[in-house]
Amino acid sequence: MTPATRTAPPTRKATTTRETRTRRTTSAVLALVAAVCLGGCLPTPNDDPFDAPDAPAPTGPLGEPEGTSSAEPTQTPTPTPGPSSPEPTAPDVSGPVASDELLGANPVTLEIGVGIDAVECNLPAWSMGPAAAEGFYAEAIRCHTRAWRDTLARFDIELEPPGLWAGARSADYDGACGTNTTGREAFYCGEDQTIVMPFDSMSTIAQYGAGHALAVLSHEYGHHIQNQIGVSAGYAARREVAGWDSAEGQLLSRQLELQAWCFSGMFYGTSVGRGSISQAMSDAAYDNNSHAGDRPGELREHGTDANIAGWFDWGRHPSDDPGEDVRPTTYECNPWAARDASTLE
Ligand SMILES: [Zn+2]
Repeated sequence: MTPATRTAPPTRKATTTRETRTRRTTSAVLALVAAVCLGGCLPTPNDDPFDAPDAPAPTGPLGEPEGTSSAEPTQTPTPTPGPSSPEPTAPDVSGPVASDELLGANPVTLEIGVGIDAVECNLPAWSMGPAAAEGFYAEAIRCHTRAWRDTLARFDIELEPPGLWAGARSADYDGACGTNTTGREAFYCGEDQTIVMPFDSMSTIAQYGAGHALAVLSHEYGHHIQNQIGVSAGYAARREVAGWDSAEGQLLSRQLELQAWCFSGMFYGTSVGRGSISQAMSDAAYDNNSHAGDRPGELREHGTDANIAGWFDWGRHPSDDPGEDVRPTTYECNPWAARDASTLE
C-alpha cells in the first residue's frame, strides 16, 4: 500500500446534527454525526479488485465480572458551523465497505504486521474524586498517544492528541457536541476531538476501580484514532446514505464501535506488564467491556457483550490459541472486512 496516495485527515472536523442528516448536500454527507467520532478524509478512488484481509474471529471467553457497561450517549452532537474552510470532497460510498479506503481498506489496517509502541504508562493513583479522575485520564491519554504516534506517522499522519473534558458534572459540559443530557457515561466528540468523561456520569463505572475507568478512556481513545485516520468520515458518510437508524446503519455503528474496542485491546496487549498496565488492569478492562453491549430498547449500535469482549480480546491477542506468541496489530482490528458476520452482531 502507498500511504502517500491518501490524504491525511484535516485537523478541522466537520459535523452536523442528527436533525440535518437527511440533507444530501456534500457538506451534509461529509459532516456527519456520531457522538463518538467525526472526521474528515478524502478518499482515493480505487478500482482495483480488493483482496479482503483476513478478519479476526473473536473467541474471547466471557467472564462474569462485576463491571458495568461503557456505552456512548445516543444523543448526537449539536452542530457548530465551521468557519469558511474549503469544502472537502464527499467520501465515495458506492463500493463495498470492505474495499472502502477509509474503512475496510484503510491503509492503517490494510498492511499486515503493523503494531503500536509498548509504553511505560505510569498512572497517578486512582481515587473517586473529579480532580483525581481528571489527572488519571489525562495521563492515560498521554500514554495512548505515545503508543500510537509512531504508528500513524508511518502513514504520514501526525497524531494530534485528543482533548479531555472531565468536569465534575455532566450538565456542565459545553463542548462542541452540545449539552450532554443523555445520562450516558462518556463519549468522544469528533467536532473538537475531545474525550468527554464527566465525573458524575462516569461514577457508575469508575466505582469499580481504576481498571474500569481506564477501559472507558481507552475505548474513547480508539474513536480518536478512527477520527485521525479517516475511518470516522467514511463511517459517517456511509451511515448517512444507509439511513441512520436502518439495519445497515446500525451495522456500520457496530463495526465502528468494535474497531474502537479492538484498538483499545491493542494498547493493553502491547503494554501489559509495564508501569500501571498490569494484567489485573487488562483483566478489569475485559470485564468492563464484557458488559458494554447494547441494552434492551436501544438501537443495535455497539454490539453484543460477547462480540465486544471478543474484539477487545482479539485486539489484545489476535489468536485463537491463548498460548500463541502473537503481537497486536492494526490489521487484526478491521471489523469492516470481517470474515464472520456473526462477530458483528
Ligand atoms: Zn464507542
